[in-house]
Amino acid sequence: MKPLPTESLERAAALIAEAAPILVFTGAGISVESGIPPFRGEGGVWGRYDPSLLDIREFRAKPLASWTAIREIFYESFGLARPNPAHEILAAWEERGLVDFTVTQNIDGLHRMAGTTRLSEFHGAMGELICVACASRFPASRELLAPIVPTCPACGGLLKPDFVFFGEGIPHEARASAFAAAARARLCLIVGSTGQVYPAASVPLAVKEAGGILIEIDPGQTEFSALAEVRLRMGASEALREIDAILQRGT
Ligand SMILES: [Zn+2]
Repeated sequence: MKPLPTESLERAAALIAEAAPILVFTGAGISVESGIPPFRGEGGVWGRYDPSLLDIREFRAKPLASWTAIREIFYESFGLARPNPAHEILAAWEERGLVDFTVTQNIDGLHRMAGTTRLSEFHGAMGELICVACASRFPASRELLAPIVPTCPACGGLLKPDFVFFGEGIPHEARASAFAAAARARLCLIVGSTGQVYPAASVPLAVKEAGGILIEIDPGQTEFSALAEVRLRMGASEALREIDAILQRGT
């Protein structure tokens, strides 16, 4: 077993303590330990399903095919996922005043479930359904998901998960709150994001461009790696546990 990169962990903890409250930016890598597969790369969702099923035009044209895949991908597997220690530590940091705001690219709702409240779910979240006809929102309940193609209780229109499909824009409030938080932040802690999806990836970049610091936690090389002051090549829970322990010791 490799020794832990202690020096980097301690540097990360010191920078976080100094710059707090910080901005946190998360991607698929933080949810892997909750059993959620990434969309991209090896073993990813797009290896098994055609991404066009989540294109808004395809969805409207062929709701039966799209909903069959959506149910399998999101509501039969993701639906069982629970927050892991990484989500829980970040929620505790918000409570302790170390985290100002969290921006996530994930639609799994796990940050919210862990207790994070100052949050931009940049791509929406699967926990609600929205009517494509009247824009009413409903919790994604077992009852609403019972028909093969769920329909709106208010108007009978087609329901879709309230996350961003291909061909749709970022919800205004999610985007505005994320960039406002980036403008306040002196440090952005990036956890498990490859930095390939825009405009989300612009959020940490805005912190860097304004003279702030990036810290990256990711087992692999990402688009942010070259820009980061500290790079921790570790899983999310392991790295955050170590940093949390250093912060708690107050060193
Ligand atoms: Zn409706």
